[in-house]
Amino acid sequence: MTNRYDLLVIGGGSGGLAHAQRAAEYGANAAVIEYGPLGGTCVNVGCVPKKVMWYAAQHAHQFHHAPDYGFDVEVKGHDWNALKVRRDAYIERLNGIYKNNLDKRGVTYIAGAASFVDAHTVSVEGKEYEADRIVIATGGRPMVPKIPGAELGITSDGFFELEERPQRVLIAGSGYVSVELAGVFNALGSDVQLVVRKDGVLRSFDSMLSTQLMEAMDKNGIELDTKVIPASVEQTDDGLVMRAEDGRVFGPVDCVIWAIGRSPNTESLAAANAGVRQDKYGFIPTDELQQTNVENIYALGDVTGRAALTPVAIAAGRRLADRLYGGMEGRHLEYDLIPTVIFSHPTIGTIGLTEDEARAEYGDDVKVYSSGFIGMYYALGSDKQRSVMKLITAGADERVVGCHVIGEGADEMMQGFAVAMRMGATKKDFDDTVAIHPTSAEELVTMR
Ligand SMILES: Cc1cc2nc3c(=O)[nH]c(=O)nc-3n(C[C@H](O)[C@H](O)[C@H](O)COP(=O)(O)OP(=O)(O)OC[C@H]3O[C@@H](n4cnc5c(N)ncnc54)[C@H](O)[C@@H]3O)c2cc1C
Repeated sequence: MTNRYDLLVIGGGSGGLAHAQRAAEYGANAAVIEYGPLGGTCVNVGCVPKKVMWYAAQHAHQFHHAPDYGFDVEVKGHDWNALKVRRDAYIERLNGIYKNNLDKRGVTYIAGAASFVDAHTVSVEGKEYEADRIVIATGGRPMVPKIPGAELGITSDGFFELEERPQRVLIAGSGYVSVELAGVFNALGSDVQLVVRKDGVLRSFDSMLSTQLMEAMDKNGIELDTKVIPASVEQTDDGLVMRAEDGRVFGPVDCVIWAIGRSPNTESLAAANAGVRQDKYGFIPTDELQQTNVENIYALGDVTGRAALTPVAIAAGRRLADRLYGGMEGRHLEYDLIPTVIFSHPTIGTIGLTEDEARAEYGDDVKVYSSGFIGMYYALGSDKQRSVMKLITAGADERVVGCHVIGEGADEMMQGFAVAMRMGATKKDFDDTVAIHPTSAEELVTMR
């Protein structure tokens, strides 16, 4: 038997749910196909449980600083498993809320793995479904290197399954997931070693952020080893040992975590049956309207290989529905000026061009303003964490094209500045804005 819909969305994660729900609000008869828990990566093994762990790490930092503020606190320990139980219960509640949201809008939920039969037909667990339009929002999953013993390590997915905190942790990878997990383990008391393939962490971000974070990690006792290309992992009597291609040996440790990037979930999709083109890594490229090379098939979110962030997937999904079902011709997501936060310790907030990118695009027309200081939070104690901010402007009117912040409060700081930058704010607009005192954010409007 075939079931017919206006819209079939493959993947019930951030982007797929946002698209299906918005389309249904416009009256489309929509269904979402999902083989895992609703909510996708963000809710189950990404942003949400990660931020819970970051909050736990923040508590540890604040207990550490509490005596500076006159408190006589004795922290008797931290129960990782009790935190996990509460975190899992919270996520289960969210899964239920996502299901209710679909029900409220009349979106059909089909549980199972989807694969294409042709450009209008999808098969799920042996049953076929047809639709005028199909949206691929299947996201991605963590990569594991193809080296002997790699299976002895875990990924970020496995991190969220840990029932207790490993004491000795080795994390391979230089991206944001790697530094975020390193910060959590470090704050909660593990010995953390980070190994990266090149010269440092966060290499795709402004170099100031990378340098400052590496300094902070060093100060906090995270060991960083560069130019490490893992060759094997083996189990010894004293734990896991990683060997690098150049012969260096790391460990023994209790846990190895691979945080080396993500691959798209496209292998079981049989997208070729619908004629959908994929790139050499399996990602599904689209035009600026999220359309694949097949007229009635669209793709959005992580599976497209662009700006892998939850709000990006949601925004692309909603805009696509606005255009296809809401009569908003031409509406689409612009992928420049996307603000983002790295929940490292300290946090990082960043938007726009890095200094190198700005110089490559605007040459000598670039002006850079920066400020480094110890935030007032650290004024009373001996532990001093530095905040650094950088504004990058271009052109005679000094339009702000990049804004990069590392330090206390950077996570909550960037959203408003992102609005200003989207509106084309110049350095003068920043200067003309009255500061909020005493905050760290005020430095961004007082730089000279
Ligand atoms: C550890 C970690 C931390 C992160 N932290 C942040 C953060 O702080 N902020 C942020 O913005 N982003 C963060 N992200 C990224 C964010 O989670 C993703 O960008 C976002 O979830 C992408 O949404 P999506 O809809 O494209 O894919 P997903 O959310 O991955 O959803 C895809 C869904 O499709 C399903 N699926 C796949 N194939 C099939 C199939 N054939 N049939 C049926 N279902 C299928 C999957 O089960 C999945 O549920 C983080 C990611 C990780 C891993």
